[in-house]
Amino acid sequence: MTLRPLPKTVAPLRDELLSGWLARLAASNYCEISELLAHVGLDSRYADTLDFELNAEAAGRIAAAARVSPALVQSLIFPALPPTEAQLTAQVPFQRCPRCSRLGLALKHWRRAWAFDCQKCGERLLPILGRSEVEVQPEKLLRRARSGAGLLEQAATSSSSVDLRRAMRAARFAMGLKKVRGDPAFALQGPRPDVRLFCLAAIAVARKRPLVKAVMFSAGIDGFARVALLAAFEKEPRLLVAVDRIVERTRQRTSPLAAESHN
Ligand SMILES: [Zn+2]
Repeated sequence: MTLRPLPKTVAPLRDELLSGWLARLAASNYCEISELLAHVGLDSRYADTLDFELNAEAAGRIAAAARVSPALVQSLIFPALPPTEAQLTAQVPFQRCPRCSRLGLALKHWRRAWAFDCQKCGERLLPILGRSEVEVQPEKLLRRARSGAGLLEQAATSSSSVDLRRAMRAARFAMGLKKVRGDPAFALQGPRPDVRLFCLAAIAVARKRPLVKAVMFSAGIDGFARVALLAAFEKEPRLLVAVDRIVERTRQRTSPLAAESHN
C-alpha cells in the first residue's frame, strides 16, 4: 500500500524532537497532529511514547508522508540512553523556551533534568505547569541553580557515579528542606519550579560546603523537615547521626523555650 504524501513538508531543525516536528508538520498542512498520525496509521494516544520508541515500519510511513528519509525521522527520537541519563530525561515535556515554543518548536534538550537555558536562543527555560512565568525568582537562586544544572549535566553525562551520587544526595537534601518526598530524579524534572530550582541550587552549594554543615544554615527547620532530612540520609548511618545532632541543636537554639532558659 502506498501512502499519500502530505501536500506540504517541513524540514526538521537541529535537536528537534519528533513530536515537535510532527506538530509543525500537521500545522503547516492545516490538520491536527491526531489526524496526521491517523493518516500514517499510528494511534495518537501513544504520541508521547514515539519520542523514545519508533519502529522502522512507523518511521517509514511517517517518512513517506512527509517526503523525507526514514533515517531523518529516526534521528528525531532519543537514542537508547544509558540508565542514569534515561532517569534524568523526562518522558513528557516539563519545560519549554518561551521564545522558541511560540514558533511551535519542541527541542530534545528541554527534556533533560539539567537543561536550564535554551541552547537555540539563550532564553531561560520555563516550566510548562505552574505559575513561574509571573513569579520572579531571586537572582541568587537562579545563579546557583544554573551552576548546579551544569554540575548535574557533567555528572550524568560523564558517567561519574560518585559525582552523580553526590548531586542526587544534595537534591534529596533540598527536597527535605522543602518538605517534599519522592525520587530526586523526578523532583528535578517535576512540575514544581520552586522545588526544581532549590534542588539544582543545592547541587551547586553542596559542591563547596558539606551537607552536614549546610544544615546549620537552615533556619526555621521544623519537625516535619527534620523527619524528611533524616529519611534522606537513612542509608548513611554516620551522616544520619550528624544531621540529627545538628538539627536537634538548631531546633533547641531557635525554640522559644530554649531562649527563655538562657534568660
Ligand atoms: Zn529558545
